[in-house]
Amino acid sequence: MRIRKFWGWGFEDELLSEDEEKNIDKRIASTFNLDSIERLPIPKVNDIDLHTPKIKKPKSLEAIFSGDKLERLNHAYGKSFPDSARSILGLFPNPPDLVAFPTSEGDIYNILDWASSNDIAVIPYGGGSSVCGGVETYVGGGYKGVISLDMKNLDSIIDIDKDSRTALIQGGILGPDLESKLKEHDLTMRHYPQSFEFSTLGGWIATRSGGHYATLYTHIDDFVESLKMITPSGLYETRRLPGSGAGPSPDRFAIGSEGIMGIITEASMRLQDRPTFRSSCTVEFDDYKNGLSALRHISQAGLFPANCRLLDSNEALFNGAGDGSKHLLILAFESSDHDKTFALDRALEISKDFQGNFEKPKQSSDAHRSGSSGNWRNSFIKAPYLRESFTRRGIIQDTFETAITWEKSFDFIEEIKDRTGKAILEITGKPSLVTCRITHSYPDGLAPYFTFGAYANPETMIDIWKEIKLATNEICVSKGGTVTHHHAVGRDHRPHGYDNQIPELFNKVLVSAKSSLDPKGIMNPGVLIDPADKTIKNWMS
Ligand SMILES: Cc1cc2nc3c(=O)[nH]c(=O)nc-3n(C[C@H](O)[C@H](O)[C@H](O)COP(=O)(O)OP(=O)(O)OC[C@H]3O[C@@H](n4cnc5c(N)ncnc54)[C@H](O)[C@@H]3O)c2cc1C
Repeated sequence: MRIRKFWGWGFEDELLSEDEEKNIDKRIASTFNLDSIERLPIPKVNDIDLHTPKIKKPKSLEAIFSGDKLERLNHAYGKSFPDSARSILGLFPNPPDLVAFPTSEGDIYNILDWASSNDIAVIPYGGGSSVCGGVETYVGGGYKGVISLDMKNLDSIIDIDKDSRTALIQGGILGPDLESKLKEHDLTMRHYPQSFEFSTLGGWIATRSGGHYATLYTHIDDFVESLKMITPSGLYETRRLPGSGAGPSPDRFAIGSEGIMGIITEASMRLQDRPTFRSSCTVEFDDYKNGLSALRHISQAGLFPANCRLLDSNEALFNGAGDGSKHLLILAFESSDHDKTFALDRALEISKDFQGNFEKPKQSSDAHRSGSSGNWRNSFIKAPYLRESFTRRGIIQDTFETAITWEKSFDFIEEIKDRTGKAILEITGKPSLVTCRITHSYPDGLAPYFTFGAYANPETMIDIWKEIKLATNEICVSKGGTVTHHHAVGRDHRPHGYDNQIPELFNKVLVSAKSSLDPKGIMNPGVLIDPADKTIKNWMS
């Protein structure tokens, strides 16, 4: 059994080579003009002290609870920059008292009953890949204890309906397991967030995750046909329907509920046939505005590219997809049913109208794995492993994402890059380059995704990250965007962000819905909203 790193991404045996580490040293030294760089050691379980659990395992459920130290460490945080930073520094002031591993829905009912009757907070845990404090076990002082409820044992595909092309799937299944089981039936769900390897169906639904595809079916919302959620008040189950006009959608209410209403135990998911036709091409633009205009026209032409990512010139450079002189639009089309060359040709015609230059398009089933798009793909997969190496040197390497309508898009992106750069300079005293890629595009707008590096050291990195996070939350929302397009709200996107963005009356609706489903306010307190009679002080404030 491979063991996952409690302090970073992937398994314990997946470390960068010494050459890769030295390259990172060089990159940091030249970016921040430093003579030498210290690396914090990889933390060891035995060097970390955890407080004694405040609660005892319930007798009747003893077999599904663990108080093991590594499990408590692994379930204390998700995988954001501060999660990794605190783990590397050995800072675990609020670990879960216990971790529960239910093996059936019956177990979940029993755990929620026990937790409700004993004032114990429950943090649902899928793959633990949250980057916004969604699985953090900090719940303030208003509970007798806190448990993490890990869904990993509920990981089956219960049924496949080939006629309707859907499958009934349990919430704890991880991405690779899900796809390999569907492959046996020549089917795919075709939902690939960057965290695919270590995230679950239940987590995707709970966070409204966004897949890797740039248009059309990419948000998990579109794939959910129906779902089952176990709440402290009982079963919340929706009806399997291809569509329905019967009032507000009970599915949509649960999708994105981030574990504050109940545990999503299974869902009937819409599937697709496996794509066999693929064509792709990379277009270069000298002018970013032209690249954006091409992207908009392609998004509004009904062509629905699978990939349609606009990388600004620096983003292209840092991902090995260009030399930093051009902005790149990576285009890819795919279908299980028909050749998509016509769609690629039309997208290229549009690009040409906006002074885009390109080489002869490729048409092969693995076209997306070569050239600039292949380099981009490799860098995309490697990114989370690189980030934790920066963290070990006290350097902040992070991202944030948002969405905006087309009419504001250019000014919005420029202003966010500019204001974020200025905020980082003010906070750290050193300049930072903020780069942007457009990850998703819609007929009415787009989702820009920003990456930045910021100078700090191991003592200051967490406080500096907090200041930058509060600034970027504020910048995105005050400029009319959203605090997140697909990374969810969790705890970290609330201050200056979601708390300002959520309509006041909708907040009240959510609070009262939570009071019905979770009267004791035990489910993931502090995420999205506060329970009716409690204020959960955010760890960020
Ligand atoms: C390197 C990296 C890349 C990422 N890339 C993407 C990306 O491309 N697209 C994207 O959308 N996100 C991305 N994320 C964020 C994260 O992976 C997603 O939010 C993902 O959907 C979380 O799934 P999970 O199973 O890991 O959930 P967890 O992290 O375990 O939980 C996330 C939230 O959902 C709740 N939850 C989990 N399971 C359940 C359940 N069964 N029932 C009720 N609530 C539940 C948790 O309490 C928590 O609030 C990325 C994260 C990392 C670290």
